Amino acid sequence: MWEWWQRLKDSGAVWEFPNDMRAPHVVLRSGKHSDGFIDTLQYLSLIPNLRAASVALARALRSKTRGVPIDWVFGSPMAGIPIAVAAGFVLNAQYVAFTEKTGKDKELVCRFNVPEGENVLLIEEMTTTGGTPQRGIDAILARNPGANVVPFVGAFLTHNGNTPPGLLDAELVSVVDTQELGISYNEWEPAECPLCAGGSIPVTQVKRVWRDLVQTMKDPSHPVPMA
Ligand SMILES: [Zn+2]
Repeated sequence: MWEWWQRLKDSGAVWEFPNDMRAPHVVLRSGKHSDGFIDTLQYLSLIPNLRAASVALARALRSKTRGVPIDWVFGSPMAGIPIAVAAGFVLNAQYVAFTEKTGKDKELVCRFNVPEGENVLLIEEMTTTGGTPQRGIDAILARNPGANVVPFVGAFLTHNGNTPPGLLDAELVSVVDTQELGISYNEWEPAECPLCAGGSIPVTQVKRVWRDLVQTMKDPSHPVPMA
C-alpha cells in the first residue's frame, strides 16, 4: 500500500504543511483548519493512473464479492463516476450508472431503473465518513427496492478503514487506507488553530490554488493566491 501512497505523493496529490509559518494552511469544507490535504483527483485524472487504480480496486472487490456477477456499477457525483466506469470494465459489469445531487441540500437521487434482483455495486474515488456512499445506496434502493446492493462499497482511498462510521450495512474495500498507513492530519477549530496563531495564513478553495499550495512544501514562501 505504501507504493500507492508514494504514487499519490509523486503525482502532487498530497499537501502537507512544511512546518514553516511562511507557508499557508488549509480550511476544510467542514470549516476546520488543517495541516494536510489529499486531492485524489490530482492522481486519478490522469488516465493511466485511473486505469491502474481501477484495476487494483476491481481486484480487491473481486476478492470480496467472489463469484457474484456485478450487473450494475454506480458512481457518486461527480468524482466517483470515472472510476466507477473504469472499474466496471474490469469487473465485466453490464451497466454503469450514477446518482445525482439535487436541490439546495444536494440530496442524492437515482434516476436509473434497476430490474428486480440485479446486483449493484457502488464505487467511490474516496470517502472519509462513508456518508456519501450510504446516501448513494439509500437513493438507489429508494427508486429500486428490488435491487440487490452487494454488501461492499469500493473506494480508491479511505480515511477510516473498512468500517467508516457512516456506512451502515456494507464493508468498504479500498486501495489506499490512510488509517492503515498511519497517516492522519490535524483538524482544529479556527479559534484554536496553532498555525493561525503562528502567523500562517488559512487558505479556502484549496483545490483552486492546488498547484501553488503544493509548491509551498518545497518553498514555504511561494505565493499562494488568496480568494
Ligand atoms: Zn488556522
